[in-house]
Amino acid sequence: MTNTDTADPVATADQVAALARAGSQIVRVTVNNDEAAQAVPELVSRLGDMGVEVPIVGDFHYNGHLLLTKYPACASALAKYRINPGNVGSKRRDENFRAIVQVAVDNDKPVRIWVNWGSLDQDLLTEMMDANARADEPRDARDVYIDAMLESALRSAALAEETGLRHDQVIISAKVSQVQDLVETYRRLAPRCDYPLHLGLTEAGLGSKGIIASTAGLSILLAEGIGDTIRVSLTPRPNGDRTEEVLVAQQILQSLGLRSFTPQVTACPGCGRTTSTFFQHMAEDIQTYLREQMPVWRGTRPGVEELKVAVMGCVVNGPGESKHANIGISLPGTFEEPKAPVYVDGKLMTTLKGERIVEEFLVILEDYVATRYDKAGAGA
Ligand code: SF4
Repeated sequence: MTNTDTADPVATADQVAALARAGSQIVRVTVNNDEAAQAVPELVSRLGDMGVEVPIVGDFHYNGHLLLTKYPACASALAKYRINPGNVGSKRRDENFRAIVQVAVDNDKPVRIWVNWGSLDQDLLTEMMDANARADEPRDARDVYIDAMLESALRSAALAEETGLRHDQVIISAKVSQVQDLVETYRRLAPRCDYPLHLGLTEAGLGSKGIIASTAGLSILLAEGIGDTIRVSLTPRPNGDRTEEVLVAQQILQSLGLRSFTPQVTACPGCGRTTSTFFQHMAEDIQTYLREQMPVWRGTRPGVEELKVAVMGCVVNGPGESKHANIGISLPGTFEEPKAPVYVDGKLMTTLKGERIVEEFLVILEDYVATRYDKAGAGA
């Protein structure tokens, strides 16, 4: 999701393009006021001019029914609408919800129904909490909270279908901010419907905490076959790179063997046998090279995202890991003769020596990619 002001279509288009280049396959923008809604058609048209084809999802709260009916060009330009049924008004909640869905029906757009622990339909929650309090054996409040979220999502989905949205145009997500709650919520939700489910840990947080919490929650569910789309929500550092959440999401999927996005580097952690920083620089340089080449390779080297590269610190595990990779290099370790065997498809290809080991390895790597992942398929 972007964090630019959607009313600024230039800045938002630039950020969407960056997210798409990083590999995002769908991007959500907030549509929170008249200016944002008016800017959406220009945003989508700018992206078209830039050759960026990623679908744009509009995020609506409180006034979505007003904006989508007042600005038909916005409704038409968006690829999908996201609605939180807890944030469409209280007195006229169903009416407002139906108004948004009707726009979706008229424009043949899917809708993601998103219920959130922090903005749950309070009437429904109160009703279920009261019923629980009257029960002979009341369940704990967390249990009822989770059920209320699911109930809200499924009732809203039913209401959307009653309004005319096709069954296959409904997507559901139920966001919470704690890993165990996320897992529990989706484990209960998945068997209750066949709508596509969007996964994400909301308000996951900053830096490593956000990355690890999101990875833990999403990985458990994905490994169980639950989830159709994912988002990793990270709080960026000031002026931080918004694409980080895309890279984390991709790495989760690739680590689980579900999708491949970029060549993977197997690198040893280093130890007392690699006391110089040469090995760390080498691992970093090769990883960076692969990441920077990927936007170029994506269109010209089909299948390169499956490439496995080993970068190892010494002979203890280096040759073994190198043989398991498509291409691998292993340093000798400190105090040993400075030479680095390079393995290609499990066989020793050459041994590099001297100060230009990394540069020479990158030439071999580039040649390997050009031959193995030739677009015409000649070398594959
Ligand atoms: S491969 Fe060598 S340098 Fe790397 S961690 Fe193992 S023993 Fe240490």
